[in-house]
Amino acid sequence: MIPFLDLKQINLRHEEEITQNLVDFLHSGWYILGKQVEDFEKQFAEYCGTKYCIGVANGLDALSLIIRAYGIGEGDEVIVPSNTYIATILAISANGAIPVLVEPNLSSFNIDPEVIEGKITPRTKAIMVVHLYGQSCNMDPINELANKYSLKVFEDCAQAHGAMYKDKKVGNLGDAAAFSFYPGKNLGALGDAGAITLNNEETYLKLKALRNYGSHQKYENLYKGVNSRLDEIHAAVLKVKLKYLDEDNNLRRKFAEEYSRNICNPLITLPSVEGESGLSHVWHLYVIRVNNRDKLQAYLLNRGIQTLIHYPIPIHKQEAYKELNDDKYPISEKIHNEVLSLPISPVMSIEDVQKVTEALNEYKEAF
Ligand SMILES: *Cc1c(COP(=O)(O)O)cnc(C)c1O
Repeated sequence: MIPFLDLKQINLRHEEEITQNLVDFLHSGWYILGKQVEDFEKQFAEYCGTKYCIGVANGLDALSLIIRAYGIGEGDEVIVPSNTYIATILAISANGAIPVLVEPNLSSFNIDPEVIEGKITPRTKAIMVVHLYGQSCNMDPINELANKYSLKVFEDCAQAHGAMYKDKKVGNLGDAAAFSFYPGKNLGALGDAGAITLNNEETYLKLKALRNYGSHQKYENLYKGVNSRLDEIHAAVLKVKLKYLDEDNNLRRKFAEEYSRNICNPLITLPSVEGESGLSHVWHLYVIRVNNRDKLQAYLLNRGIQTLIHYPIPIHKQEAYKELNDDKYPISEKIHNEVLSLPISPVMSIEDVQKVTEALNEYKEAF
């Protein structure tokens, strides 16, 4: 059996270092917003190339606190891709703002900058990009539009830790960025965790207070904040895993290249390759497209290969977002009907990749 992702193996590679940090943490006697979080925030900001990082409880909170910190709320519009994980959209509506869905480019799966301008109205306040599946968005045209219309640019980096656009890392390409360290992400904790990166000092101080009851100083509250702190215990683990992130991303790259070089089946469309126009890809997911996707998934499972679908139902077809339901998103619907994510992770072997490749090359629609 080739699992989609062997999380246990991913973490056990660092058993000794993680255990040591957890023991240090236990013995510190300081369990909330202490040295572990402080260290990790400093190291992650440095890694992303930003001035600041704020650890929070999860990726959804990171997204929604960013929107709140910029004063975006009731009746404001935020432009966002129509094919993203639901958390990106939830963060917008949680603030009372309106998600305005923009279709992606079919080959990159990322928001199509050319479609954005037509969706801007006097109520638009921000563009929320998502570096989906690990590939950076084409930021120059997006930042140009943001300048032209005085919009904020936010990044959802939950799938793209370490990806670059030209000479900068994601997390440092707009006004503020949200990360998730959910266990299965390229940089994953042992539970829920997240962070925000940014360069603006005033907003940094506001976010730092917002995550901690709106308090900048003990028992003094500037805002009606929330409790969304990054746990020390997760920061202790993330500090170890951050050191290996680039190495892990390079292994993902190696396996993705192997797939792209060797999968050859006219029924299957491969994802676009890395490197065009300054985009980079850290292969959080290796996503192919195929008609009759469920049939291919069953065929692979039958050959002992586990795959997943990211994602089966588009936002505008979800019961929770009935108000967004219409027929204006054919590309998004096509993507949701055709995508299949192959196993990819730093702990798989080249033999696994070859087995998956072989199975795909032998696949015929009428088996
Ligand atoms: C995982 C993910 C999130 C949410 O992160 P959580 O930590 O699970 O809240 C947000 N956006 C995208 C694109 C994600 O993949």
